[in-house]
Amino acid sequence: MKYSAFSLLSNALTYHQHWRKAWRKPEPKKSYDFIIVGGGGHGLATAYYLAKRYGGRNIAVLEKGWVGGGNTARNTTIIRSNYLLPASAALYNHSVDLWHGLSNDINFNVMFSPRGLLHLAHTVSDLREISRRGSANYVHGVDAEILTPEQVQEWVPFINLHGRYPVLGALLQRRGGVARHDAVAWGFARAADALGVDIIENCEVTGFKIEDNTVIGVETTRGAIAANKRVGVVPAGHAGVLAEMAGFRLPIETVPLQAFVSEPLAPVLDCVVMSNTVHAYISQSDKGELVIGGGSDPYNSYSQRGSFDQIEHVAGPIIELYPIFSRVNILRQWGGITDITPDRSPILSATPVKELFFNCGWGTGGFKATPGSGSAFAETLALGHAGTLAAPYALSRFVNGDLVDEAAAAAVAH
Ligand SMILES: Cc1cc2nc3c(=O)[nH]c(=O)nc-3n(C[C@H](O)[C@H](O)[C@H](O)COP(=O)(O)OP(=O)(O)OC[C@H]3O[C@@H](n4cnc5c(N)ncnc54)[C@H](O)[C@@H]3O)c2cc1C
Repeated sequence: MKYSAFSLLSNALTYHQHWRKAWRKPEPKKSYDFIIVGGGGHGLATAYYLAKRYGGRNIAVLEKGWVGGGNTARNTTIIRSNYLLPASAALYNHSVDLWHGLSNDINFNVMFSPRGLLHLAHTVSDLREISRRGSANYVHGVDAEILTPEQVQEWVPFINLHGRYPVLGALLQRRGGVARHDAVAWGFARAADALGVDIIENCEVTGFKIEDNTVIGVETTRGAIAANKRVGVVPAGHAGVLAEMAGFRLPIETVPLQAFVSEPLAPVLDCVVMSNTVHAYISQSDKGELVIGGGSDPYNSYSQRGSFDQIEHVAGPIIELYPIFSRVNILRQWGGITDITPDRSPILSATPVKELFFNCGWGTGGFKATPGSGSAFAETLALGHAGTLAAPYALSRFVNGDLVDEAAAAAVAH
């Protein structure tokens, strides 16, 4: 059923008792043409674009928990494309383009809000970094503006420009912003299901069936499922675990990343502000909560919990920069598991096992790429090899040195 004002009205007449479930709960079939492991935003977007653009009709998404239980609904929803390198600009800008039409495309309001995103510069070297990146963005067709401290104050009137972390300027991306993260997972799930994709929750992949170095299916907690064509693995923080099941290793480190939100406030902040030098960024959700995040935990772990030291570490600079928030109460804190590559760029790639592809390594910054990643990986699965957007992100780059090295330039406090 198409969501519309009319469907809302007609369902109101029957007391909202007859809405169809957003997606089915099918039993797994014995075989599928394409199996996608991981029902987060990226896996679901992959299934959606594979069905929509490439005519795939026999596709399963296998999710060990529930749709939207992973990082999709644990992130701070920042969307931007102002990376330094051409390959990143192409992939993330493709994603931002898709974000701008996504709610209409999947007929689900993902509450995308391109409210503008500021990267603050606190030091002379920050200023050099934003002007270098801003120039690169300009060349690559990514919108970018350098703001003076006074212009920053127009965006955030209560910011403390002259405190311990003086604000010397900012890089602004007006097309950047936020979206409602679980709506993204639900919207892609519903749209993929409408195209016939089987979304199978509570179905953990526990192994791969490999013959003649070719993947022919997966073992799951709900039985074996054969793959007639290809298997795409999109497991966010569990990429290393799944690669090990397939018999190879990935150049990935797994670390938790935490975030927290405040109690809801009246609207006070209508842009996203990132401050990489002090590892603190902030926005306000449509519910009114201040959404606050920082750098990743400094150790490897699969924990999804928050910790007090992280609140302290991040709240310090936030209060220094925005003193009016000093008496706001923290409401909740959580963590997610992120898989980080040496060059801080993702892996969208064939693997040493034929017909087995991995989409992972998005680290602390994959939410913004959800539609772009899905679109590029769907193309890869349909073709059986990487298309233009995915090609720079092959695993081979860690052997031949052709890195997409955003490590120093990605402007994220990894
Ligand atoms: C606190 C935090 C803040 C963040 N903030 C931002 C941000 O502001 N902007 C941004 O761009 N990015 C951000 N990120 C990163 C972003 O959330 C991730 O890069 C992105 O969500 C990962 O892709 P995904 O959505 O598909 O992951 P997930 O939603 O985690 O999906 C992967 C799925 O795979 C499933 N899975 C794993 N193993 C198996 C298995 N064996 N069998 C079956 N299923 C399996 C998992 O259960 C999970 O549901 C943040 C992350 C965290 C943790």
